Amino acid sequence: MQLDFTPIIAQVFTGFFWLLPLFLLIAFFKSVRFKGAMGEWAVNLASSLALNKHDYHLIKDVTLPTEDGGTTQIDHIIVSRYGIFVVETKNMQGWIFGGEQQPTWTQKLYKQSFKFQNPLRQNYKHLKTLQACLDVELKHLHSVIVFTGDCTFKTEMPANVVRAGGYIRYIKSMTDVMLSETQVQEYIAAIEAGRLAPSLATRQAHIQHLKSAASKNPTTQPTCPQCGSPMVMRETRNGPNVGKMFWGCPRFPACRGMRNMGG
Ligand SMILES: [Zn+2]
Repeated sequence: MQLDFTPIIAQVFTGFFWLLPLFLLIAFFKSVRFKGAMGEWAVNLASSLALNKHDYHLIKDVTLPTEDGGTTQIDHIIVSRYGIFVVETKNMQGWIFGGEQQPTWTQKLYKQSFKFQNPLRQNYKHLKTLQACLDVELKHLHSVIVFTGDCTFKTEMPANVVRAGGYIRYIKSMTDVMLSETQVQEYIAAIEAGRLAPSLATRQAHIQHLKSAASKNPTTQPTCPQCGSPMVMRETRNGPNVGKMFWGCPRFPACRGMRNMGG
């Protein structure tokens, strides 16, 4: 007697093929890349939808020359009559501890913790550079720090340090008109003219500048091998190394630089 398994196998396979796209879809939504992209996407979408283009002019990824001959990179600049918003985004996981006056903040991810430069201080340098480039008063520049990753603030944060969801609310809370429409147009033109073309050469010059700055001022935080940003601690979310910690670029997914964690 011969048993014919073909129908059973066919049935199993039909079931499997039906499930496969579902698994892939779930894996995709759970992936770090997706979450990172969502963070960035959420910020971009929020700023393009909720802030109307006539009143708020978004300029992304601006590299400016600094007074010490180096360069500095600003994630987002939003020029409006309510002032110029200088936005620094941080894609970080875990618990975040920090205070306005503290030179370093702490990221905790499970049992690991590490210190990173207070992003308000980091962004203050951006403000000073922009102030020099535009010849604008410092009080017309607003510093905004947006945490886009899967993280929780464990200390009370100043009003200008927000999660991705609070970004627009904060910008819209600034309602004092301080610049004329003419000034707004002039500043936009000045930023576009003053920014360095985002070429490989400017990127490499920026990395070199950050590396030399890092060697003068050593911290526990390594710099990104691709863009030179001070790196943040991350956890591998899937694959054979799941749970393993590594240094990731805070500009992920725009930058995919990473380093192994020593020890
Ligand atoms: Zn990077």
